[in-house]
Amino acid sequence: MSSCSLLSYGAEDERVFQLSDYEAALPRWCPGCGDHSILSAMQRLLTAEQLKPEETVFVSGIGCSSRFPHYMKTYGFHGLHGRALPVAEGVKLERPELTVFVVMGDGDCTSIGAGHWLHSIRYNMNLTALLLDNNIYGLTKNQTSPTTPQGHTSNTQPYGSYLPALDPISATLGVTNASFVAQTAEWLPSHLFATLRAAYRHQGFSFVRILQRCPVYTPDIFQRAVRDPDLIELLVHEDGVLVPELAKTYHNQLRHDPRDLAAARRLAEPGERLRLGVFFRDETRPRYEDLRRLPKLTSEEKLARLNQELETYAV
Ligand code: SF4
Repeated sequence: MSSCSLLSYGAEDERVFQLSDYEAALPRWCPGCGDHSILSAMQRLLTAEQLKPEETVFVSGIGCSSRFPHYMKTYGFHGLHGRALPVAEGVKLERPELTVFVVMGDGDCTSIGAGHWLHSIRYNMNLTALLLDNNIYGLTKNQTSPTTPQGHTSNTQPYGSYLPALDPISATLGVTNASFVAQTAEWLPSHLFATLRAAYRHQGFSFVRILQRCPVYTPDIFQRAVRDPDLIELLVHEDGVLVPELAKTYHNQLRHDPRDLAAARRLAEPGERLRLGVFFRDETRPRYEDLRRLPKLTSEEKLARLNQELETYAV
């Protein structure tokens, strides 16, 4: 399509969307920022899946990565710090037919938004949640976040981060009712795309941690793994992520059945290598929106119910 609008289309909708139909404003991230690669993979995913722009929503909080909705020609909500998940859940409850993506940074998700994060995993609503983890607060210019490696210096901890870093994969796998947990890296575009696709297709709350380089504040953190494929181990399985072309370069491949939660938790333990792939997947877990599906009401019916509720307080 040469131009796409967010107008509604009829049953005879025969549009074919091109990559450019999902491109909005020119990204303002720094040159070399890993967010560019993630944006590109996401636009490829929407093109591959032919998602209708007017039925797709990106919700974000605050941070460098949270500018994401501005760069997608879909609906979007650039919200408050740490509050992307409850907004996304509200959208999904009211409009279950929409495809909803949530984009969060490590400070946004694992610090100020941590309470929402844990409960969203348990609620298991059909959302695709992306944690763009550069191990630092970038937008506010270099403060330690929960995922900053111990000893890494920042403006808030100039002698080095005091505590061991929080591991978002282990944390997510520890929450009751987790249903999809994966890790990928923005410098491996084919793996990133395959992981995003698996997450999008999963029915339930898909949590994807994307290791993301920030060349301004954490230039060294992932650099060894970028240069040395031996520091990466790919979790491979037909029910998880398979990228055969990576086998030539990435020799460390471990067959892991993503239905095995105990094995997933063991594999999530920090080790010598970064593990990428689907750790866990179970579509039989209950989803909140299915358990609590509310009837569709007309405006008149809603007003009648509201008046009935207010009668309780009549004096
Ligand atoms: Fe990206 Fe870091 Fe620049 Fe933020 S500060 S846009 S994370 S490179």
